[in-house]
Amino acid sequence: MIRPEPGQYYIAGTMRDMETSISLGDQQVRFDRDATMALYRSTITEPGSDSCGCTYCKNFARQRQGVYSDEFKLLLDRLGIDHHKEWEVFELGPSGAEPLTIKYGGWFLFCGELTKGPDTHPEAPFSFCFTTSFPTGTLPQHHPLCAIEFIAEARWILPEQYE
Ligand SMILES: [Zn+2]
Repeated sequence: MIRPEPGQYYIAGTMRDMETSISLGDQQVRFDRDATMALYRSTITEPGSDSCGCTYCKNFARQRQGVYSDEFKLLLDRLGIDHHKEWEVFELGPSGAEPLTIKYGGWFLFCGELTKGPDTHPEAPFSFCFTTSFPTGTLPQHHPLCAIEFIAEARWILPEQYE
C-alpha cells in the first residue's frame, strides 16, 4: 500500500515528446495526457457510479467531490483524467465510524502503462496507487490503459436504509 504525502510524486519528461512518466512511491507509470483527455471526451463520458445507479453508487455519486484529497485530484489532472468521471466504484462495507460511514474502492483509467514497481492495491482510506487489474468492459483497445485505484470513505446520506 502506498499512501503518498503531498509532493511525494513527481513528473519527468519534456513538452517535446508528450510522453511523460510519473512516480508514486515505488511505482512508476508512463502516460499520455492528450490521449487520456481524448478518452474522457469520447469514451468515458459518464461517471461509473451514475451509470450503475444502485443505492451504494448513488450514495457515492452524491458526495464524490468530497471524498478525494486535493493531492489526489491534482494527480488525476496531471494524468489528464477528469476527476468527475470515475470508471467504477465498489462498496466495501461500513467503516465502523459513527454516523454510518461506508468504505468504497474505485478506479480511474488513463492511457499509459505501469513501467516500474509492484502491481498493488490500496488498503485503507484514503489511499491510492497504480494498478493494471481493473474491469475493462467495452473499452477500445487501441491504447494501453492503466488505472489508478483508490480507497475512500463516504457517509451514508441517503434516506434509504443501508443494507
Ligand atoms: Zn452500483
